[in-house]
Amino acid sequence: TPALVWLRDDLRLADNPALTRAAEDGRPVCALYVLDEDSPGIRPPGGAARWWLAGSLRALQVDLSRHGVQLVLRRGPAARAVGEVAAQIGAGLVAFNDRAGAAEAKVDRKVAELLRSEEREVARDCAHLLHPPGTVMTAAGRMPRTFSAFHRAALKQPVAAPLPTPARLTGFAGTLSGETLESWGLEPRRPDWAGGLREAWTPSEAAARERLAAFIEDGLPGYAVGRDRPDLLHVSRLSPHLRFGEISPRQVRAAVRHAAAGGAAPQRDADKFEAELYWREFSYHLLAEDGDIARRNIQEAFDQFPWREAPGELKAWQRGRTGYPLVDAGLRQLWQTGWMHNRVRMVVASFLAKHLLMDWRLGEAWFWDTLVDADPANNPASWQWVAGSGLDAAPYFRIFNPVMQGEKFDPDGAYVRRYVPELAKLPNAVIHKPWTADAGTLAAAGVRLGITYPKPIIDHAAARERALRALKSTKK
Ligand code: FAD
Repeated sequence: TPALVWLRDDLRLADNPALTRAAEDGRPVCALYVLDEDSPGIRPPGGAARWWLAGSLRALQVDLSRHGVQLVLRRGPAARAVGEVAAQIGAGLVAFNDRAGAAEAKVDRKVAELLRSEEREVARDCAHLLHPPGTVMTAAGRMPRTFSAFHRAALKQPVAAPLPTPARLTGFAGTLSGETLESWGLEPRRPDWAGGLREAWTPSEAAARERLAAFIEDGLPGYAVGRDRPDLLHVSRLSPHLRFGEISPRQVRAAVRHAAAGGAAPQRDADKFEAELYWREFSYHLLAEDGDIARRNIQEAFDQFPWREAPGELKAWQRGRTGYPLVDAGLRQLWQTGWMHNRVRMVVASFLAKHLLMDWRLGEAWFWDTLVDADPANNPASWQWVAGSGLDAAPYFRIFNPVMQGEKFDPDGAYVRRYVPELAKLPNAVIHKPWTADAGTLAAAGVRLGITYPKPIIDHAAARERALRALKSTKK
């Protein structure tokens, strides 16, 4: 009997356990993607992620069709769409890979129950993570509450070897009604704001593999130190590919280990990189355990936190017009390319939550809408980590100084010059603090503070004092 593979955050053919299961025993396979914006609690993808999703599905349709497999597109709710397509093809087996979010897990349980009640076999696997949630636990039956304890415990657990693309895939031959990608309107038309995204990215499984190979050659050697430099691009930029499952963490980990074992990269760089993959695991296991991390403070002491409301300042932050060049460069990189370097994400998030004392949820929502890698686990977990309300969060007195961060991690100002071109002609000594430049220097660089580039919207020292007072209240 035919098998249905329901694809979600696993838009790939290789190392896809659900696809491999569906293809077992030569069963004819049909693939399904459901755009589910109707099931309760599901968070619809933001604008940049929708753009990515469209490209990724288009590429997947081509890849699957090379194997004769149709990718049927249906709108949600998922329980209805999966049930209908399973019935249409007379599926004996429906296979899918698990998701970690509470609402998604609920939908998946409901779909599985429905299918089983119709006498269809259901196969579920873990494909998005190195370790299935619930397998890295303390003796007390919880996930470890600090990253280092989590990482130590996880390293004791086995990681499955990545699976190859199924050697033999047979497509389900019948004609099936589906929807067209265009009818979903995932891509902007007018205004077409996605030009910067198109220039920066290619969503697809093949592009993910190329990115990984290029990173192993150019970025991995020296990663441990270089990863903190937004001007150097020593990082992999695999995050959107991982987010949509065009490549799996198992594949990435195996390739990086292989490179280190073969001498193509120092072990310490490979270890550091793998540790970053474990930060992703940490976020996902937290999401699976705590559910609602995009809405609820993980540390309840933050529930009474005196967040400020200041819509004008929020807008200045979103548009990259705070007057702090590193902060503005990061937010403009985000707006233009749908991605921001990790070091700068930390600085801009700290700036919003601590300098401006604005609720981390506002920043999280902005990132959710603008990041191509906007991720249901990493985004809220990282925001809460920076704001101080998260698991194993940065200590409350860690308030990044955006000037010093710039001078340390963008020492020649190349990153700022690229994204804040109106400051490009300033000398290095003042590129991260233009308000300290004398009138002659500013004039020579064509900078008129308050006109061509904003003055700082807040004084760093005063903001720091205010934040420390507010944050201390969470420690009582
Ligand atoms: P690399 O350095 O090449 O790392 C490889 C992979 O490891 C990444 O692709 C990612 O999957 C994982 N990783 C790396 N750093 C982290 C980290 N600190 N936490 C969790 N996983 C990590 N990452 C997202 O994938 N989606 C998000 O929505 C997201 N939002 C963030 C919001 C804030 C405020 C902060 C501070 C960080 C956020 N991150 C998010 C984590 C991190 O910034 C990105 O994963 C990283 O910058 C992606 O670039 P890369 O692929 O080149 O990373």
